[in-house]
Order: sequence, then C-alpha cells, then structure tokens
Amino acid sequence: MRFLQKTRSQPHPRLAASFGLHAALTVGDATLDQCVAAAESLGEVGFHVHAAEGTADREHSLATYGLRTIDRLAQHGVLGPHSIIVHAIDIDAWEMALLRETGTWVSHQPRSNMNNAVGVTDVPAMLRGNMKLVLGNDGFSNDMLEEMRVAYLLHKAASHDPRTLPADQLVHFATANNAALAGQFFHRTLGELSPGAAADVILVDYDPPTPLSIDNLPWHMIFGFDGRKVDTTIVGGKILMRHQQIDHLDSEGIAARSREVAQQTWERFWAQS
Ligand SMILES: [Zn+2]
Repeated sequence: MRFLQKTRSQPHPRLAASFGLHAALTVGDATLDQCVAAAESLGEVGFHVHAAEGTADREHSLATYGLRTIDRLAQHGVLGPHSIIVHAIDIDAWEMALLRETGTWVSHQPRSNMNNAVGVTDVPAMLRGNMKLVLGNDGFSNDMLEEMRVAYLLHKAASHDPRTLPADQLVHFATANNAALAGQFFHRTLGELSPGAAADVILVDYDPPTPLSIDNLPWHMIFGFDGRKVDTTIVGGKILMRHQQIDHLDSEGIAARSREVAQQTWERFWAQS
C-alpha cells in the first residue's frame, strides 16, 4: 500500500504497482475484502492473483467458500480492467464470461502450466472472444521468445490441430497485448518505435536463411531465434547490454553470490523440514 502510494505521488518510468494477492487459494475472504477496500480508496488500482490454475484450486474454493475460483473473485470485486488473473485454466464458460465482461487481463504461461501439469488454458477461445490475453512466464525463465515457442507447440498438441494458434496470432497477442498492459501501468506508448514512445529496444543477431518480410516475421521469431540471440538491449534510451556484455553489472560476482545464497536457503529449508 505504501509502495502504491509512493508510485502515485512520485511516478517512476520503470516502477509501478498493483496489489499482489499471490494465489486465490492462499487469500481468505477477510484479506480479499480489505485489499478491495484499500484499492477503492486509491482508485484505478487492480490486483495480480494466480487463480484457477488447476483442479486443486477449484476444489479448495468450492469446499471452503462454496464458489468456483473466478466466481468468488468476481463476487469480492477483484476482477476489472486493472486486474490480472494468472493461469485461468480450470474455468467454466460462466467464469470465462466474467473475465471477458469485466475486461480483466488474463496471463498465460505455458511452460509453468506444463511443468505443474495443471492443464491447458483455452487460449483459442479467449482469442476468439477478443479477451485481454497476455503472455507471461511465471518465473519459469525470462526468455519470452522461448515461451512463445512453447505456446505455439502446446496448443497444437492439445487441440490435435496444427492450425491452432498460428504464429501471427500468437506473436500479436504476446507483443501488442503485453505492451498495452504495461502501458496501463506506465501511462506511455510501449511496444512500438514512434516519437514519444519509450526507447526500449532489443537487437537480435539473426541472419535469416530464408527471405524475411513483415508478413513472415512471426514464423522467423518462432523457428529462427530465441533469447540467446539477443545481442543488445536498450531501456529508456540507455544501452544496458551491448554485444551480450553487461558492463554496469558484475555478472560473475552476482552468480557467485547467488550460488552461496541458494545453498544457504537449502540448508535452512532442510533444517526446518
Ligand atoms: Zn502461477
């Protein structure tokens, strides 16, 4: 709440906030209501919550609250154009309609979902309904090009139809919708090269083996390269990585420290279990 107020009073080009409610099954009704009341006092603030990830989520919600996961969130006022529901896999037609009618963002993360074996989000239906669908990664890893490739394959396998989720549809929602969602937080044009837009650019070292055009670019992105081909990263007009070198950070030192902390975390974990 304090951080939210701070980002309101002192807007930052790269910092913004919403209520992070973790997961529907870890937040009780009293907490939900308190968060909704706090959000209403601020206005134009939404919630980020992992919900309807799998059957366990639905069964817990039905057993504890007598409502399906998204029904419960809707009843408490969590849905809306500033909120992000992560997963939305185990939902029925009415819950899908609630997400659509409230203009709620839905974040899809195929690799995390496959890793947790929680089912497949009905992405084709969400796109048919022109829902506000974005691509996320749920921390599986931050290579969004790899996430796109997995999404491209997953929905074909799940539907037994190679025509499902063609690359142009996929790349469009994963870029335009993601930029629109981020733009809602940062109040500026993102995801395009135009005057006044944020100067956030990646350069990819890719020598296409077949003709590259604006029409076939999505297929080159799926089949031709991944995050490892990113050569240079520019954020806010400032070069952060040049030719895969990040000069302003001590990458080796950070990795060494990370190994130490990871080991200590495991030791604490095993000591407690
Ligand atoms: Zn999740």
